[in-house]
Amino acid sequence: MSMFSAVEVIATKRDGGVLSEAAIGWVIDAYTRGQVAEEQMAALAMAVWLNGMTVAETASWTRAMIDSGQRLDLSEVGKPLVDKHSTGGVGDKITLPLAPLVAACGAAVPQLSGRGLGHTGGTLDKLESIPGWRAALSTAEITAQLRAVGAVICATTPTLAPADRKLYALRDVTATVESVPLIASSIMSKKIAEGTDALVLDVKVGSGAFMRTTARARELAQALVGIGAEHGVRTTALLTAMDTPLGNTAGNALEVAESLEVLAGEGPPDVVALTVALAREMLAAVGLDAVDPADALADGRAMDVWRAMIGAQGGDPDAALPVAREVHTVVAPVTGTLSRLDAYAVGVAAWRLGAGRARKEQAVSAGAGVVWHARPGQTVLRGQPLLDLHTDEPERIPGALQALAGGWEIGGEWAGLPLVIEKITG
Ligand code: URA
Repeated sequence: MSMFSAVEVIATKRDGGVLSEAAIGWVIDAYTRGQVAEEQMAALAMAVWLNGMTVAETASWTRAMIDSGQRLDLSEVGKPLVDKHSTGGVGDKITLPLAPLVAACGAAVPQLSGRGLGHTGGTLDKLESIPGWRAALSTAEITAQLRAVGAVICATTPTLAPADRKLYALRDVTATVESVPLIASSIMSKKIAEGTDALVLDVKVGSGAFMRTTARARELAQALVGIGAEHGVRTTALLTAMDTPLGNTAGNALEVAESLEVLAGEGPPDVVALTVALAREMLAAVGLDAVDPADALADGRAMDVWRAMIGAQGGDPDAALPVAREVHTVVAPVTGTLSRLDAYAVGVAAWRLGAGRARKEQAVSAGAGVVWHARPGQTVLRGQPLLDLHTDEPERIPGALQALAGGWEIGGEWAGLPLVIEKITG
């Protein structure tokens, strides 16, 4: 007989009480094994959403989710291990150039990633637009690739924090995603179970992010960094801008193509700057701060690792990327400064064009997405292309145009967030 009952655990949280480590360990384990029902966990998640959790409760919740599965043992890799996690944004392709860049500078990057849901893209969806590339790797394959190449971007393994997989799906359909302790424990349980030595978090702020304000993003970053410290994973967070989308493209193959520009030593300045800033933090976290990642982008070493990383997972780095069947262009109605391009509007437009999914089981279109010809602060000329909408299904274009209506402005001053807003350390 268990000492705990689900109803009592739910009632404690409903009434604003604090749950013990033992109660949290029990409820997460019983839920993972199917002995606490979905409706009970939904009630508990809502009680947590409403009443929050203390630092100690959040630490216990994270530990219980890690213990619901197996930790990856990457001790045989033989290099310092460092990973990065972004809380998700529009046009956020940074992982693609970043993982090979950091590997080119001497660290190993085990990037276990997810697919996109809603208006933010998923790293695996982007890479799957490369012909032949395979997301699912065994632990032995991950270890071998980290030793040989230094970087892996692949799907999370089924035994990694299974409680989170189940709970995240439940939160998604019960309006309980946007809770700082639940988001923090969800992210960190997966990253700690992955076996990395250090972690750099890119916590996005703005209309295209989970956290719309700097204050909320700071709260999440502090919770994430605190959990990392508790588990012996050196964790740093950068709060970065997501009021406007990153780079010039949002969409799967479109973002791979833009990442290749960055790896070739070119690419949009904001994508390059954020990639280098995050690489510096990752290298510093594992004591490799004498290496300048900007050099490895300029001299092609990061591109060499990219080619090896894609090839090791069955992808052809030289294959042509898929392109959408239709392109609809929106032209600038007047000449002036582009003073606003809203990340959320662009994200929803790309999603509606087929780049994203509304339900987990849906497929995404590799070629679909949005390209913008100017970034906020730049001048646009009347009659020149402003936005290109790429899709395989032209009937999707009106919905995308509707999402973009009011999402951009020409005239006036651009008053956006700085690219890197703040750094949070433990
Ligand atoms: N990403 C996650 O992995 N978990 C959350 O709860 C939210 C975003």
